[in-house]
Amino acid sequence: MHSDVVRAAELLRAGELVAFPTETVYGLGADALNPSAIAKIFAAKGRPADHPLIVHLPPSARLDDWAREVPSGARRLAEAFWPGPLTLILQRQSQVPDQVTGGQDTVALRVPRHPVALDFLEAFGSGIAAPSANRYGRISPTLARHVVEELGSAVSMVLDGGACEVGIESTIVDLSRGEAVLLRPGLIGAERIESVLGRPLSVADALAKPAPRVSGSHAAHYAPGTPLRLVRPDRLREVLNAQRHAGHRCAVIAYSQPAFAESPHVWRMLAADPAGYAHDLYSALRELDSMGLRAIVVELPPEGEAWRAILDRLFRSAAGSGIADDDRL
Ligand code: AMP
Ligand code: MG
Repeated sequence: MHSDVVRAAELLRAGELVAFPTETVYGLGADALNPSAIAKIFAAKGRPADHPLIVHLPPSARLDDWAREVPSGARRLAEAFWPGPLTLILQRQSQVPDQVTGGQDTVALRVPRHPVALDFLEAFGSGIAAPSANRYGRISPTLARHVVEELGSAVSMVLDGGACEVGIESTIVDLSRGEAVLLRPGLIGAERIESVLGRPLSVADALAKPAPRVSGSHAAHYAPGTPLRLVRPDRLREVLNAQRHAGHRCAVIAYSQPAFAESPHVWRMLAADPAGYAHDLYSALRELDSMGLRAIVVELPPEGEAWRAILDRLFRSAAGSGIADDDRL
């Protein structure tokens, strides 16, 4: 096993924070059974204490040590998708501290599949509580460099595992109360989960229920400092031309349109498929956000199941500003 991973596991045992790569985004890890280590996560992120954390488990962990009354559907999902980007919400076992669950009687569990995360979890030999390794409400990190830029000395060590393969956060399914509910869409889509469960999922996400315009609410997440606006593909040229006439430079994230000639705007093309798009979305947002432009104009991806997780993140990034149907930005 790599010496960095062994040292990282020792730091966790000493109650320190270690950031590590997962296949979704980088996590800010602490010993899930050590309440004072968990407190350091909330301090480093500037995160309200009632927000629960996901506990990452080594593949060798026993689900029943972390959750009780585990329904058979949860075991089937774990069997089908772990290690992988699916988080299950279950009734918590008594050893799981209140600090991890936000005082709730449920716990979020997942076995990630990034090889460095798996080595780290096996070296530690227990659960690692880890939210995304960014300041509260900001864009999740998908490179080790992003973590260092954002959290710096608040973290004892950052394990570098390169660019995250998936690039957006895990799908979250709540199985703690009989019904199976999709709490956060991800690249493992609802149909795949339903086919393993053999029954439909209920949905509780931003697309089913439009995000409220309340500052500090969960709606304002994954947010760049630059205003972010979603624009339908058929309006993109018009909106950007209006900005050009007004003397404004914008950043543009597009997936279908080639750059317009003589555009003063900064273009970033992402892949036209959801997996490729998700892989690069957060690093594109960070890069464009750092340029101090008037707005980040995002070509609205297609509606529909395949793009659901990406639309969810984009709507939250736009933090309630919605789809710009006119050219006011
Ligand atoms: P992050 O901190 O970015 O990894 O996001 C963790 C996500 O898991 C948040 O959306 C939490 O609200 C959610 N979560 C964690 N634990 C629970 C739980 N017990 N019940 C419901 N959602 C949870
Ligand atoms: Mg997060």
